[in-house]
Amino acid sequence: MPILTRDDLLDRDREDPLQRFRDAFVMPEGVLYFDGNSLGPLPKATLERIDRAIRQEWGRDLIQSWNAHGWIDLSVRTGGKIARLIGASPDEVLACDSTSVNVFKLVAAAIRLQPGRPVILSDTENFPTDLYMVQGLCGLLGGAIELRLVKEAEIEQAIDSTTALVMLTQVNYRSGRRHDMAAITAAAHRAGALVLWDLSHSTGAFPIDLHGANADLAVGCGYKYLNGGPGAPAFLYVAKRHQHAFRQPLSGWLGHDSPFMFDLDYRPAQDIRRAQSGTPPILSLIGLDAAIDLMLEVDMNAVRRKSIELSSLFMALIDEQCDGHGFTVVTPREPEQRGSQVCLRHSEGYPIVQALCARRVICDFRAADILRFGLTPLYMRFADVWDAVAILREIMQSGGWRQESFQKRAAVT
Ligand SMILES: *Cc1c(COP(=O)(O)O)cnc(C)c1O
Repeated sequence: MPILTRDDLLDRDREDPLQRFRDAFVMPEGVLYFDGNSLGPLPKATLERIDRAIRQEWGRDLIQSWNAHGWIDLSVRTGGKIARLIGASPDEVLACDSTSVNVFKLVAAAIRLQPGRPVILSDTENFPTDLYMVQGLCGLLGGAIELRLVKEAEIEQAIDSTTALVMLTQVNYRSGRRHDMAAITAAAHRAGALVLWDLSHSTGAFPIDLHGANADLAVGCGYKYLNGGPGAPAFLYVAKRHQHAFRQPLSGWLGHDSPFMFDLDYRPAQDIRRAQSGTPPILSLIGLDAAIDLMLEVDMNAVRRKSIELSSLFMALIDEQCDGHGFTVVTPREPEQRGSQVCLRHSEGYPIVQALCARRVICDFRAADILRFGLTPLYMRFADVWDAVAILREIMQSGGWRQESFQKRAAVT
């Protein structure tokens, strides 16, 4: 007896309190989109906002838009909105730069706050760009600091009196496993270390409470669960208590206390703006701002509830429908231990993902052998999960994934 039928899931979709949000997005007909964790879809409101920004703000009002349309404060204003999604105060968050660049700025600032402590501690499962940025910083500082990597489960024991900063991504991009932010932050603080949380796979996916965890520093991505658009600006968070002593090395003019005094010497702004460097990409930032406005209409607790239901359903259907086809669920079965994605391991993961994409089940592959499915409650239906697993089962039973063309690796997987 199957655990559920497709009709049961259609009923759940009809009762879903979030169902009205699907219509807020442009969703191509026939696509089952399991990649909103990597590139969120286009909110309809973004089309209108960016069109107005181009035609009226840029096209008509030209440079006066910096004042007239508030472009100059947009990084702060959009940051203040993101603050509401991550349990921070509006004056602690700035929307700017990329996640990578923000990692660089915050790690460098943390080192300055922690003299005599040479170690940046992270885990071997962290997203590579975070590690690469620290490696670049280590090179720049000529051996004064070092990056130390330990296994994911060994972080807490590895924190000691040499640790300046613990730098972690809350939700593992490859397994979906989620760190306990409050517990690790508390352990770091007991040892005198600071913590930088990368919230790229968390923000917009579930409620986050940076204040509740007493977090020091954080960064996150704008184009994943926030739906800000390709290459959307990222954000950074600096706890109020650290802002006075906070100094970051990319000290550009828009982080200056009075940029339009054109002083020869840098003097940091008195607030979170000191974390800003140069001019933000205004059109992209407006796209992010429009997407955040939509997120702020949503009850994040309802998002989390549906995310858990979708991911639990996905795993149960994989167990039931794809048994014997060589898949292992690598995402934790306990809801508290995972974010909003389900990952499967399979030795032929790459061609299977290509075969799914050819059938318009859009998901992605992460080397060496992971098939990754993002679950995004705002526009995903329970029946979509059923249909995707049915297609996967069909591809495995027919051997359709063996087609030669599915082997060829593209630049982006
Ligand atoms: C997606 C992601 C990034 C992206 O960094 P970019 O600078 O936007 O390329 C960084 N860190 C983590 C953990 C991510 O998941």
